[in-house]
Amino acid sequence: MPPSFPFGGMENPCLTFVTPCLLAGDRSLADVIIHEISHSWFGNLVTNANWGEFWLNEGFTMYAQRRISTVLFGSAYTCLEAATGRALLRQHMDITGEEHPLNKLRVKIEPGVDPDDTYNETPYEKGFCFVSYLAHLVGDQDQFDNFLKAYVNEFKFQSILAEDFLEFYLEYFPELKKKNVESLPGFEFDRWLNTPGWPPYLPDLSPGDSLMKPAEELAQLWVAKELDMKAIEAVAISAWKTYQLVYFLDKILQKSPLPPGNVETLRETYPKISDSQNAELRLRWGQIVLKNDHQEDFWKVKAFLQSQGKQKYTLPLYHAMMAGSEVAQTLAKETFIATAPPTPAPPQCSQLRLTDRGAQGQLEALGLASASSDFAGFQNTVPKFQFSSQIPEVYTPLGKSGLWAWCL
Ligand SMILES: [Zn+2]
Repeated sequence: MPPSFPFGGMENPCLTFVTPCLLAGDRSLADVIIHEISHSWFGNLVTNANWGEFWLNEGFTMYAQRRISTVLFGSAYTCLEAATGRALLRQHMDITGEEHPLNKLRVKIEPGVDPDDTYNETPYEKGFCFVSYLAHLVGDQDQFDNFLKAYVNEFKFQSILAEDFLEFYLEYFPELKKKNVESLPGFEFDRWLNTPGWPPYLPDLSPGDSLMKPAEELAQLWVAKELDMKAIEAVAISAWKTYQLVYFLDKILQKSPLPPGNVETLRETYPKISDSQNAELRLRWGQIVLKNDHQEDFWKVKAFLQSQGKQKYTLPLYHAMMAGSEVAQTLAKETFIATAPPTPAPPQCSQLRLTDRGAQGQLEALGLASASSDFAGFQNTVPKFQFSSQIPEVYTPLGKSGLWAWCL
């Protein structure tokens, strides 16, 4: 997809869309490809019955992704990657507040709730924790893997609710049903589904310690007022994989702001990180730069945001800019203006085709429809306009969101 494609991937049946940000040159972001392929079973073959149950798609897919990753790359690497996912969930809950109604697995999409806001880390990472918890209750990986196959087989080509899945789980494991695992205090299935907040159970990620500990220790060295460069340079990060660097940068971010001057030394010491073209590293470097108000590198944040439009990268950086200094806030506004579609003049041609993504207000703003007219009315007013749900290659944006037109 074009770099502006706002998602990492989209699992259409038999055709996966992915962002070009994944082309890191070293296959280090292949986990997204594994994720999208996993959706063939969890999401496409068995589908959530409504968008309030989105976690059924994403929680299972994260679980499947990490099971496959464990087989392919080992548990140390997979636990490290899962730890970066957990850090994203932490950041998300810190920004929104743990008690935010969208921080439960089953969400209510009702008037006033922006469906875009339901697309966040909770259905992914909290969903992963719930599926991991159910596997933990079973206690045997092979048995749980077999259960997942049976689950897909039971519900294939169907749209289901959490109850369908959980009833099947308890029937499949009668000894768990006998123990009333659905109502263990603190871990009630109902609590998992309907209470916002941090997951009651976190899977054990200690197999990743061999990769995480060195990254944590190195991050700790960078917190000192007087940097121990000998100790820092003794750690050879050149052999580290991308997610180990990501983990290290997440720790630096958590400890930021660092003492004055340390970010500049960090930048000079690790050009592999600060000049990286890998999107996961560019995101973290941008977050560190903003949290430390390291204005010399603000241009990198802007360049990154101008190069791609993936929501996972864009939202945290805009949040960080707007929570930052006045200069950072100005950067946010400048970058937004530089990347937003231009304010349009209505296209000049005899006929236009429009595609609507729910933004009749855009028409009104352009004087193409009156406030009281509905789309039928609008079609009557400008009969040469046609509507379509598809966006073609060549289009003209009308306004800043939602509506696109092209000449017939
Ligand atoms: Zn997914």
